[in-house]
Amino acid sequence: MSIEPEKLAIVLYPDPVLRQVTKPVEHVTPEIQCICRRMLELMHQAPGVGLAAPQVGLLLRLFVANASGEPEQDMVFINPVITADGKVTEDLDEGCLSLPDITASIRRPQAVTIEATDINGERFRVSSDDLPARIWQHEYDHLDGILIIDKMSPIDKIANRKVIKELEA
Ligand code: ZN
Repeated sequence: MSIEPEKLAIVLYPDPVLRQVTKPVEHVTPEIQCICRRMLELMHQAPGVGLAAPQVGLLLRLFVANASGEPEQDMVFINPVITADGKVTEDLDEGCLSLPDITASIRRPQAVTIEATDINGERFRVSSDDLPARIWQHEYDHLDGILIIDKMSPIDKIANRKVIKELEA
């Protein structure tokens, strides 16, 4: 793998890389750490609250997130495993840095626990029933090539039809 992290940029739908399933990260190498730092930088610049590797053209099982925007809240999730806590779901509006100008109400579990490896190669586990839970699930979907346009309601599909067509053109 030879990646120049400073050249990474956010890719937009319908780039086919957004539809592919990512591969687990074998080792948290200095290169992986550079990629993570660059992704955090791109996320803050956008600005956004999360960014997954396919969104910078990389088929790696990792994403970054920060619900508050405060630098000390930056989090890296490598090889994440996510599980719903309980059966409560809720509908919330989501956007996506790869789908500019699209907002869709998506139903997801309200509370989740996520286990992942951090930027230092340490395995950790966190839970949330708030915005972070929503972000983690959205970014996790990206690792399997799933986008919010796949999960939105028929009404949102109609509402966003023009913008989606423009992106596809
Ligand atoms: Zn997204």
